[in-house]
Amino acid sequence: MDLSLDPEEARFAEEARSWLAEHVPSAARAHDIGSMDEVVARGREWQAQLAAAGWVGIDWPLEYGGRGASPVQVAIFNAEYARARAPQLVNRVGINLAAPTLLAHGSPEQCRRLLPKIATAEEIWCQLFSEPGAGSDLTGLSTRAVPGDGGWYVTGQKIWTSYARYARFGICLARSEPGSRGPRGLSLLAVEMSSPGVDIRPLVQMTGEAEFNEVFLDEVFVPGDMLVGEAGRGWQVASTTLAHERGTNFPFKEEVVHEGYLADLLAEAEAAGAMDDPATADALVDAYVSLVVLRTHNWRTLSKLARGMSPGPESSWVKLTWSSMTEKLSEAALGVVGQAAPLWGPWQRQWLWSKAAGIAGGTSEVQRNVIAERILGLPRELR
Ligand SMILES: Cc1cc2nc3c(=O)[nH]c(=O)nc-3n(C[C@H](O)[C@H](O)[C@H](O)COP(=O)(O)OP(=O)(O)OC[C@H]3O[C@@H](n4cnc5c(N)ncnc54)[C@H](O)[C@@H]3O)c2cc1C
Repeated sequence: MDLSLDPEEARFAEEARSWLAEHVPSAARAHDIGSMDEVVARGREWQAQLAAAGWVGIDWPLEYGGRGASPVQVAIFNAEYARARAPQLVNRVGINLAAPTLLAHGSPEQCRRLLPKIATAEEIWCQLFSEPGAGSDLTGLSTRAVPGDGGWYVTGQKIWTSYARYARFGICLARSEPGSRGPRGLSLLAVEMSSPGVDIRPLVQMTGEAEFNEVFLDEVFVPGDMLVGEAGRGWQVASTTLAHERGTNFPFKEEVVHEGYLADLLAEAEAAGAMDDPATADALVDAYVSLVVLRTHNWRTLSKLARGMSPGPESSWVKLTWSSMTEKLSEAALGVVGQAAPLWGPWQRQWLWSKAAGIAGGTSEVQRNVIAERILGLPRELR
């Protein structure tokens, strides 16, 4: 396999690199830190600037504001974006989850109306999937959508809803066929978060930030034109969202971000003499090995995407490798900061955040089940 860029790809990489070099805010890592209000305000500004230059949703069709970029170009851009240490996109739920779902299942009117404001972060989106009684087993959800008055009335409770307080819309999975069970009889609706009957309550996580929320929905009216895909076939629609949630359709970003972290950490370890400690040196090697494994998975994903295939169950390898790599790197970082580990600093915050990596977007246990059953062909788990 030839991994070098052809002249057209090299020109594209250079264009992205020089725009980012000129525009990425200084101290971009600090960009993502602070109160949620500050992070979101800074994030909106940055994303609007990026979108105005045509660097958001680059793989979307031209008519919706994209560049029609190929999977290889998306991977090149992601790597350049991470290498430039640009801030995370504030509307990442909109970009990574809602947009691909709308492109795959939404009507042209929905795409025309919703995608441009997702790109600029003028309209932030959240994901209303998890419930107190339905996480890993999402098809056990009990939020219901009842038809009426040219739309749907949605009632239920969602939880762990990132960015709900800032969101204009939430992609909401609800049971629309009474008495149905499991994946049948679900529908996916775009709920306007300012509608009467929506009650959002922030949840403070251990980093001290309140990214998550509980969302209570009480007879919330959703107009019929905000149904995404067919009524009763919401599971098929949500499967697109979930496939994108593992990040496999956006290869290389996390790998390059963590290469940067690892380089910083190695420099700090050298300066602090921490490499003399065998446990810390071992942890750093472990993190490096995970990074190389992630890179190999990324290349495999990219070669499938470039051939027009979807990554399939292998995306579980990528998710698992990524979460284990981020956990190992954060663990190694605490070894490097040594006695300062109980104090508050960027590595300590990262370590706390790394605990979420094995949960968000499907837990590590669930990824292992997918790998066992769908890739290795082992017997199905007993339920
Ligand atoms: C940072 C972060 C952001 C999130 N943002 C959102 C969001 O914006 N919107 C949203 O809808 N959700 C969001 N979530 C929720 C996330 O999708 C769920 O937490 C996740 O799917 C797990 O569900 P649960 O918390 O209900 O755990 P459960 O499903 O109750 O699992 C509890 C434990 O049991 C284990 N387990 C469950 N089933 C099995 C099994 N079959 N085999 C082996 N072990 C099993 C799990 O691995 C886990 O350790 C977010 C979570 C995090 C951490």
